[in-house]
Parts: sequence; C-alpha cells; structure tokens
Amino acid sequence: MWKILTPSGWVNGVIQADENGRIAQIIKKEGAFNGYIIPGFIDLHVHGGGGKDIMQGGDAINIMSQTHARFGTTSLLATTMTSSPSSLKSALKDIDFFMKKSRYIGCSRVLGVHLEGPFVSPDKLGAQPPHARNATKKEIDQLLDLAVIKLITLAAEIENNRKLIPYLIERGVCVQQGHTAATYQQSMDAISLGATGFTHLFNAMSGLDHRYPGALTAAMAHTTYAEIIPDFEHVHPGAILAARRAIPKLYAVTDSCSAVGMPAGEYTQGGYAIYKCAGKAAARLKNGTLAASTLTMDKALLNFIELGLTLEEASLRLSTYPAEFLGIKDRGRLEINAWADYVILDESFKLQETVIEGVSVPL
Ligand SMILES: [Zn+2]
Repeated sequence: MWKILTPSGWVNGVIQADENGRIAQIIKKEGAFNGYIIPGFIDLHVHGGGGKDIMQGGDAINIMSQTHARFGTTSLLATTMTSSPSSLKSALKDIDFFMKKSRYIGCSRVLGVHLEGPFVSPDKLGAQPPHARNATKKEIDQLLDLAVIKLITLAAEIENNRKLIPYLIERGVCVQQGHTAATYQQSMDAISLGATGFTHLFNAMSGLDHRYPGALTAAMAHTTYAEIIPDFEHVHPGAILAARRAIPKLYAVTDSCSAVGMPAGEYTQGGYAIYKCAGKAAARLKNGTLAASTLTMDKALLNFIELGLTLEEASLRLSTYPAEFLGIKDRGRLEINAWADYVILDESFKLQETVIEGVSVPL
C-alpha cells in the first residue's frame, strides 16, 4: 500500500485512474509500506530545462517540460522573459502550438504562459534583458491572441501598467507584482485593483525598509499568495520562514533555466550567457548577478523539509496553493475526478516516480 495524501488527510491504499487520466477511485488497502503519494508539483515559473530556454522556440518547450517531469513537476507555466515584441510573439506561437497537441506523454502538462515582463521596471530587471516597456492595451491584446496567458508579472509603479490590471483580470489573466520598484502605496493600489500575487518574493522588488516600505512590505502585510524560490541562494532560509509566517499561501517556484537537468557549464537565457557552477543551485550572469535557478521541485520539497515543514505543509506549498492561485480545482489535490497527477516518494521523501494524467514518466 501507499500512504496517499488527500484533502481530508492520509489514506492507506492505491489510486486508480480512468482511461482519461483522472482519478476514478482511491481504494483503501493495508499492507507493507511502498511509499508516499502526494499531488504532483505545480511550478508556475519555469523558463527552461534540459539545455533549452523557451525563448529559443522550436522544440525547447517539449524538452523543457520533459525535463521537469523527471523531477516531479506534473504541470507548469511556460515563463517568457522581457524581450522584443517579435521574439516574444514567436515564443508564444511555439508554446501555443505545443499546447494544442492533444496528449504529450512524458511531459509536464503546460497549463499556459506566465508572461514575466515585458511590463516591468527598467531599474529592477535582474537578469531580464533590457526590453522593459510600458503596457498598452494594444500589445496585451496582441499577446493574448497568440497563446493562453494565465499569469503576468508587472511593475505596478508604472501608471500604464497599473491602469491595465482590471483589464487583464477581465481577460482571465492573474496579475503578480514583480521586477518592481513600487512604493508601498503603489503596490497597495495594485492589490486593490486585483494584482493578488507577487513574483519571486524578495528578489527584484522594493523592500521592507521601515520608513520607505516597498512592494515586499505590501506583500508581507496584505497578500495571501506569493511565489518564493526555495533554493537557499535566492532567499536565505530565515527569510523564507519569515515570509511563511506573513503570507499564508506562500508557494514554491523554481524560476528555473535551461541548465536544469544538465551538467555545470555555460547556458543561455533570454540571449544572455549564464553559468551553472557545480554544487550551486543558482545560475549567474558573468558579473555575478543571480540569473535564474537550477532548482527542481523535488529538491524544493527536500529544502522545505530541511526548514522544518511537515510533508503535508510542503505539499500544499508545492502543489495545492499554486493550483488554487490560478483557480484550478482539478490539480494539486488527490481526490475523485481530479487529474491523476502525483509523485511517489520513498520513506525519506526522495522522488521515486512521477505520474501525469495517469501515465508514469520514466525518471
Ligand atoms: Zn523568472
């Protein structure tokens, strides 16, 4: 038997999926312990993997989603970078093409796009290329025509960006504040317009100065959901614990780049060379700036456990909360009629197997 984590607690038994890949039954059964089964990981911030960055287009999204499936990610948002209108459009077309394939065995399910920029602050680019611009309804409409965009990261201190938040929400896009130099008040205004999320909390945002509070302060004081990168390099473990106290549904993302699942060396991201060093979770630009992570969700789970979270709480922050944030009810939880997306862990929570829509993915 497996110990299966359901919304109402642990059940000893087995999961039975129907021919469409949804959970038909969770059959109670006792016997020798084979492992833990928890919901598959849902990563709302993925740029690349397997040596490919989705901005490269072509088969990059295929390779990226195959790579992340091997680390327990059962669904993800393909995350674009701040870039020129033409390269953004071409990346969106390739993602859309991939998403329209009816079934893609062995790949994480791509739920849609996370548009990280281009409507961000030129002063808080981090490793985003210098193509930040102000939002216009015209460009937003053009982008929405090309692919399913589920999430956007924008800087709320720019008036044009802030003004378009209600429109984005009306078009079904969740809005996060990130790569932002917003004051507390500007960030609060964006929250009241419906920008309920925050992108990689702490990184590339105005902070928590007690006299000049910024976006981070607004997040810690008011928001329910926010992303965090728990690789222990982007954010100190102590700061993760502080954020967990303040933000009830803080959830993990990898913000991972093409170097995931690859050896140390030089890779590209958004046209920049980035470097993965042996034994380090973060990839950096040549000048040392944090560029992205090589974190995987199975490692994020182990890091949460190391921080003192229970397996139940870690699972909420790796699967259930990100699904909830996007308004998805049939993933991130193991119950009848939900997708049979789960991971099997051994007694020390190490990943043994990923199952996506009822089909096992070779590790
Ligand atoms: Zn990112």
